[in-house]
Amino acid sequence: MNIPVSFEFFPPKTPEGADKLRLTRQALYAHRPEFCSVTFGAGGSTQEGTFGTVKSILEEGVAAACHFSCVGATKATVREQLGLLRAMGVKRLVALRGDLPSGYGMGGEFHYASDLVAFIRLETGNAFHIEVAAYPEGHPQARSAEADLQAFATKVRAGADSAITQYFFNADAYFRFADDVSRLGIDVPVVPGIMPITNSTQLMRFSDACGTEIPRWIRLRLQGFGDDTASIKSFGLDVVTALCDRLRAAGVPGLHFYTMNQSAATTEILRRLQPV
Ligand code: FAD
Repeated sequence: MNIPVSFEFFPPKTPEGADKLRLTRQALYAHRPEFCSVTFGAGGSTQEGTFGTVKSILEEGVAAACHFSCVGATKATVREQLGLLRAMGVKRLVALRGDLPSGYGMGGEFHYASDLVAFIRLETGNAFHIEVAAYPEGHPQARSAEADLQAFATKVRAGADSAITQYFFNADAYFRFADDVSRLGIDVPVVPGIMPITNSTQLMRFSDACGTEIPRWIRLRLQGFGDDTASIKSFGLDVVTALCDRLRAAGVPGLHFYTMNQSAATTEILRRLQPV
């Protein structure tokens, strides 16, 4: 791979999950990631597991990014959590608004990720490299594509260093977004988020919720495979490798893999991307 890569994990819920994730990480470290990131449940619900996994990654000698969501949080709790992360040696954050489960309302002292980015900069200066989320196909709650683009610009101007996108299968949406961002004078790296396809039902449910379009031809093929997981995985590898190849050829600044705590699909995609 002649392109920087990073890997995203979620905090395991059980000791078995933690053991499995350790093996996944060891397998993926072979690809020399720029960093590995760990998601954070909105409202701080996974704080212990997230911070614990970030600590393990750092102890393994790999740079770690801690996702950090602010919905429902107060400045006092965020200040305390930032202090803990600094004491752990964390140097990179993925600053997010997050989503509370329906019925919780928003509450808290932060409304948008841009508020969190500004607060982190105010409180900690340049102690952290701050990543933010980007949505080439639009965030599901955005009033309009233009409003979403402006919201992205606002959070970068609040102090973000780089961005990771929601996963997508339409490369043109990413290219258009990158052009729009640059038209606004924003020049931070916007790294495509890559979701390996290993499962059909879960992918469709997830994509509907987060606003990622699965192109009709991909959806139809996946539906046609039914429970044939071998065919789903084989097709998924072809589709996602071709997407990564196209993005790499266009000169994207890196690839961020949503590993879902599995190494096989990401490893195979990276193997196929090796120059021959
Ligand atoms: P924001 O940037 O605040 O945007 C949220 C919405 O508000 C958008 O529709 C935007 O257009 C709008 N908006 C923003 N600013 C303004 C403004 N000033 N006025 C009006 N509207 C505005 N979720 C988790 O819970 N944990 C995670 O670890 C996690 N990791 C993620 C990692 C990546 C790379 C990505 C892409 C998403 C991740 N998410 C995670 C999901 C994310 O929390 C949700 O998509 C959430 O709904 C939005 O978070 P955000 O930081 O993008 O919000």
